[in-house]
This record gives sequence, structure tokens and C-alpha cells, in this order.
Amino acid sequence: MSPIRAGPTAGLPDNCAVTADDRSDVPTPDAAQPIWAPWRMEYLKGPQPEGCPLCDALADDRLILHRGEKAFVIMNLYPYANGHVMVAPIEHLSEIKDLEPGMAAEIMDLTIRSMNAIEKVSAPQGFNIGYNLGKAAGAGIDNHIHQHVVPRWLGDTNFFPVLAGRKTIGEAVQETLDKLKEVF
Ligand SMILES: [Zn+2]
Repeated sequence: MSPIRAGPTAGLPDNCAVTADDRSDVPTPDAAQPIWAPWRMEYLKGPQPEGCPLCDALADDRLILHRGEKAFVIMNLYPYANGHVMVAPIEHLSEIKDLEPGMAAEIMDLTIRSMNAIEKVSAPQGFNIGYNLGKAAGAGIDNHIHQHVVPRWLGDTNFFPVLAGRKTIGEAVQETLDKLKEVF
């Protein structure tokens, strides 16, 4: 009988070679090996859809938390943490330097509103906020800029406890979206 894992490796299978040291610090949301979120590998290795996932989601009103004048907030379907959202310009822009001042201001405003909503729903102890610009920087969607807002808790390197009782990650994300909508 192996001991029950606690702390940063809580919930990992006993035969998993990942140690607490491997997962001790998380500089940015998309840095190598930050949070154990295996569904992200499915996404990154899977066939990339034609078109732009952000523009498509906006057109279909899928996973949209808020639609503003020039920017919107969308749930990340492959989250690093429960409540991981992205704030992006409505216009399909691939370069941060293409943001007009009004867009940049609205993205920041929606980032703060997102943080406030997440705080009300799940009281995180911190946030990672930022852009991953280009594939080399870890961007999964590299042609429509988006700011990540990732809530963090001490020792939160495993997202699986959040999935308890849900069949899929999609269900967990949808559930969080519904809660955030109530307080946004
Ligand atoms: Zn787009």
C-alpha cells in the first residue's frame, strides 16, 4: 500500500514520476510543465481546427462570459485552473501592437472585472495574468491575441480534484461559466 500523496503531487497516480520539485513554481500560465493539465496536450497535439477558435466561439456564442464593445471574455476550454478565462479583442488581431488604445483599455477593464468575478466565485489566493505571444512563447492560439487570467491557489498544481463528480472537463468549464455569469 503506497502512501497517499499530499501537497503539489496530490492526486497523481502512484506510478507517476512527477515529483513535487518538478512542479514547485509556476512563472507564467503557459510556461513548460506548470500545472498538470493533460487535456491541454490533447488540444496541442490534436488536429488544429480551420479558422480562428476565438472568432468561431464568438460567432457561435460558445463559452462567452461577457461581450463588450471592443473586447470579450471567454472561458478557456483547456484550462490550467478552474476559472481560467481569456480576454481578447473582438477584432481578429494577431499583434499586440495592433490594439487601439480603446481596445487595450477595455481588455484591462475586462481583466479586472474577470478577476473580481472569479474572486467572488472561488476566492483564489493569486492570479497569473498575461499574454503568450507566438508559438515559441507557448501560445495555443497564435493568430488572435488574448490575455490569460488564471486563478491560483497555493499547491494548486493539480486540477483533477475540481473534476470530481463531472464526466468531462467541458462540464466543469460550463459549470464555472454559469457561476461567473451570475456575478460578472
Ligand atoms: Zn480570431
